[in-house]
Amino acid sequence: MKHTAILLAAIFLALAVCAGAETTASRKPWDTRPARNFEARADSLTGFDVQSYDLTLNINHAAQQISGNVIATVLAEENLSSIPYNLVGLTVSEVLVNNEPASYSHTNGIINISLNIPAGQTFTTQVFYSGTPQLSPNVYHIGMIFNPNTVFTISDPDAARYWWPCYDHPWDKAIVHLRVTLRSDWKVAANGIRDAIVDNGDGTSTTFWTGQNPMTTYLVCVTCGPYVEITQNYGDLPIQNFVMQNQYNNALVDLANLPAMIDYFSQIFGPYPFEKYGNAVVAMSTYGAMEHQTMTTLGNYIITGTGAYELVIAHELAHQWFGDAVSFLTFADVWLSEGFATYSEHLWTDKTQGWQAACDYVASSYHQYYIN
Ligand SMILES: [Zn+2]
Repeated sequence: MKHTAILLAAIFLALAVCAGAETTASRKPWDTRPARNFEARADSLTGFDVQSYDLTLNINHAAQQISGNVIATVLAEENLSSIPYNLVGLTVSEVLVNNEPASYSHTNGIINISLNIPAGQTFTTQVFYSGTPQLSPNVYHIGMIFNPNTVFTISDPDAARYWWPCYDHPWDKAIVHLRVTLRSDWKVAANGIRDAIVDNGDGTSTTFWTGQNPMTTYLVCVTCGPYVEITQNYGDLPIQNFVMQNQYNNALVDLANLPAMIDYFSQIFGPYPFEKYGNAVVAMSTYGAMEHQTMTTLGNYIITGTGAYELVIAHELAHQWFGDAVSFLTFADVWLSEGFATYSEHLWTDKTQGWQAACDYVASSYHQYYIN
C-alpha cells in the first residue's frame, strides 16, 4: 500500500498495538522464532488449510446492499469438530457443509460452523449471507466502500471480513474465484483472469474472474464503476487497467511505462509471479494506492497525464513480488512487504534517472520520514 502522510503515524500506532497483543498461543510446531512475533488467535484452531474460495456476490449499488455466498474448499489437517470464519456486520442465513445444512453460531464477528471431518479429508463449506456492509473502525475505516460512481473494496489489513466470510488471516492463502453481479452499465475489476461477462437481461450482468495463484484474504478485491479499459501486455502477460472515461487520455501517459517496469523488476526479482497485472482507479481517502493481487487499486490523484506519480505505480507493482507472492505470516512482519516496495521506488528511479537521482530520492524520503 501507499499511505497518505497524515495517516502514517496513526497506522504505525495501530500496528504497534496489534503487536503488543501477541501471545504464544497456537504456534505452528515448525516456528522457532521469538514468541513476541506470533499473533494471538482467539479461536485457537490451526488444524485446517483453506484451499480455495468461490465467492458469489450481488452488489446493489443504489441500495448499498449485498447478498452472496462463499464456498470454501478446505483440507482438514487434524480431526475437526468446527471451523471458524470471520464476518462482521452482515447476516448469515444458511450454512452448508459438503452440501448439507449445518448448524452454526455467529457471534462477535465469528461464524463457528459445527462439523465432523477426519484428518486428511477435504470438505466444503458454503456460507450464505447478506446485508449492508459496514466499514471497519478507525483508523482504517475500510471494507466495501460505496461512492456515487464506484463501489470498491479495501481490506488491508483485516477488513475482508466486512464484506465476505472467510478465514481472514494472512497465514492461510487460498485460490480465489469471484463471480460478481452488478448493474450492467458498470464493469468489475478483480483478481485473476476475467473469463466472461454474462448479461442477465434484467439490467445486471455477472463478471467471472478465475484465480490461478494462492492469495491472502486482504488482497482480494472488487473494484466497480463505469470504466473504460486500457489493455497492455508484457510478452504473454496480460495487463488490464480500468479508468474513468475522462481519465483515459491521461492514464495512457501515466501507465505507459508499466510493461517496462514489469520487465525491469522481472530481471531483478525473478519472473512476474502471477497470471496478469492491472490497475483500477477510484477516489479513495484511506490509502494512496493498494497492491491487490494482480489488480492494484490506484487513487484518482495518480492519474495526471504527466507521470508525476510513476513511483507509486512502481511501488504497487513491486508488491506483487514482495507482499503478495512472498508474504509475511503476520502483520508484525509487514516491513517485508513495505520495505521492498519502497526500495523498489529507488530501483526504478535508478533505472530511469540514474544512480545519483536514486540516492537523492532515498535521502529525501529519509528526511521526509522524520519531518512527518
Ligand atoms: Zn506499499
